[in-house]
Order: sequence, then structure tokens, then C-alpha cells
Amino acid sequence: MAKERRRAVLELLQRPGNARCADCGAPDPDWASYTLGVFICLSCSGIHRNIPQVSKVKSVRLDAWEEAQVEFMASHGNDAARDAYESKVPPFYYRPTSSDCQLLREQWIRAKYERLEFTHPEKQEPYSAGYREGSLWKRGRDNGQFLSRKFVLTEREGSLKYFNRNDAKEPKAVMKIEHLNATFQPAKIGHPHGLQITYLKDNSTRNIFVYHEDGKEIVDWFNALRAARFHYLQVAFPGASDADLVPKLSRNYLKEGYMEKTGPKQTEGFRKRWFTMDDRRLMYFKDPLDAFARGEVFIGSRESGYTVLDGLPPSTQGHHWPHGITIVTPERRFLLACETESEQRAWMEAFRKVVDRPMLPQEYAVEAHFKHKP
Ligand SMILES: [Zn+2]
Repeated sequence: MAKERRRAVLELLQRPGNARCADCGAPDPDWASYTLGVFICLSCSGIHRNIPQVSKVKSVRLDAWEEAQVEFMASHGNDAARDAYESKVPPFYYRPTSSDCQLLREQWIRAKYERLEFTHPEKQEPYSAGYREGSLWKRGRDNGQFLSRKFVLTEREGSLKYFNRNDAKEPKAVMKIEHLNATFQPAKIGHPHGLQITYLKDNSTRNIFVYHEDGKEIVDWFNALRAARFHYLQVAFPGASDADLVPKLSRNYLKEGYMEKTGPKQTEGFRKRWFTMDDRRLMYFKDPLDAFARGEVFIGSRESGYTVLDGLPPSTQGHHWPHGITIVTPERRFLLACETESEQRAWMEAFRKVVDRPMLPQEYAVEAHFKHKP
């Protein structure tokens, strides 16, 4: 009997809706929440386990199943749960995938099943009201210490500001929603809720690093920023569909890590720098948590004269890491060196991704800005 029940649950996995984790979309889930009626991956099952008042989990393959549990799973399942728990997810709300950090996945699961935010839209106020104010721990530019700072997001003004004192009249910085990006960077920032916010000032990238002790708060901030970007883009591109705009709300970096680089004369000697590939912007920093880049390179497309080459020119001087990359732009060559072959391959792949992609009209405008830089 136990065997038959297990077989019956396994058969439910064949239903199309159950072929992917109900929460992160990972293929072939083999765990289940038998109180919510969803099939989930091992990783998401660990998050469900921490919300026992809402969800109780079992392995499809390893645990014993009772008849009533099998029937419950059969009459529910991932498609039904999506209809029930995700009926009112705002289009800008970030839906995590299996490659996202623990925090984003956990808050998505809690928002869905524990707080029922997507069945009760009034609970979405913290990120959909168009205004948000609160304190965040912000990393100091000079000493690296995290200090509490007041942040104010105003969709109407199209800006995110922060203040060095709660009673300060003038903000320390005004970040335009138009040029803003936010990405969770727990490892780099050294906090599981660490969020990197970037914005453009005089066409150069500025970084700030923040966190909030409460996971819900920082993820609400993240979604409030995405909501503000969404509404900004809706006005800027009136004919665009949600599907066109949603991928533009925030972006993760194509690749980050250390490489060595030499200067424009290519005789300066190689220096180790932290590189970030943010869409077509390759930036380098002395320290991964620097407020601004030492340099930024625009990487266009093959048709516009950009190429990425394996290795360094034979004439390259100076001591450097063994695995070279040459980036050719219409203006000059950039010589880079990676410590390992796998790093070199990963960087080449990131560079080729943008070089192989034709440039959009607005990207020509960005490229022109770079060319006119002193
Ligand atoms: Zn999952």
C-alpha cells in the first residue's frame, strides 16, 4: 500500500504544472508541501521547513505518504497553487529563480504563503505606494563602517535620496530612478541582506551598499525601487508592454571578479583590480566596495568594431597572471589577465555575450558619452 501511494505521488510529478518547483522554477522538484499542495525543490523545501505554521514538507521519494495527503496533492498541485497564491503579483515584483540568493527566495515564499501578499493587494502598500521612507545601514565611503541613514523614495520626483542626519534638510545624495539599479550582493557586502544600489552621476557609475536587519524590509525596498522604475519606464515608453519593461527594472551583473590590467601605454605594469561587467559597462575598482570606479569601458557590438580575443599580444611586457584577454575597441586595446583558466573562460563568455548582441539605438548614445569623456 505504501508503495502504491508513493507511486501515486510520483505520478503527480508528471503533470505539466508540477514539472518545476512551485517557488523558484527549478526543474524536477521531488519535495512537496503537503499542507499547501505544491511540489518544490530541495532548496525551497528548506525554506518551507522554517514556516511550519503554514507549510509541512515531505520528500516525494523518501518519506511515507498517507492516503489523505496523496489525495490532497492530487486535488491541488502547482497550477492550482499559482492561481490561489499568485493571483495578484504586481508586474514589477521580483520573482526569484533557483540561482537567486536565499533572501530573495525566502521572502518570496513568505510573501506568498505566510503573509498572503498576492491575494490581499492592500498588503503590497510597502512597495506599491510610490513613496517609501525608512532607515537603512549604509556603508561609509571612507571608513567602511555601516551607519544608519534615512532613505526616501519618491516616484513623483523620480528619485531616491538619503540623508546623513534624520533632521537634515538637504540630502547627501539624490539618485535618479531613471539611472538606478539594485542587486543583492550578500557575499561581496558580507551581510545576507546586502543590497548594492548603483546610479549614474555625470555618466559615471556610483555605488552604495546598504542592508536592513529585517529581510522583509530590504526586499520591500528592492521591490519599491523596481516599482518606481516600472512606473518611470511606463511613462518613458508609452507603447511598451509589461513583458518589455519588466526585464529593465533591475539587473544582475554579467560577471564580477578580480583581473589584472595594464594602462593605456601598456608599459605601466599589471595591477590587480576588481572588475564588474554591468550590461555593456565594464568597470574596475581598486576595492570591490569602492563608491566609484577607477575606470569604465563601454563594450559595443562586433558590427561597431568591438572584439574580444583570447590571450595577449606577444609584445606584452611585465609580469602578469597567465590567462590573458584582449578587448579591442575602436579607440584602443585593453589587456587583461586572469588567474585561472576557468576565470578567463567565464570572462570571455560574459564579454562575448555583449559583443555578439547588436547595439540598440540608445546604446549608441551611451557609447558616444564614453567617447567624449576626457
Ligand atoms: Zn525551488
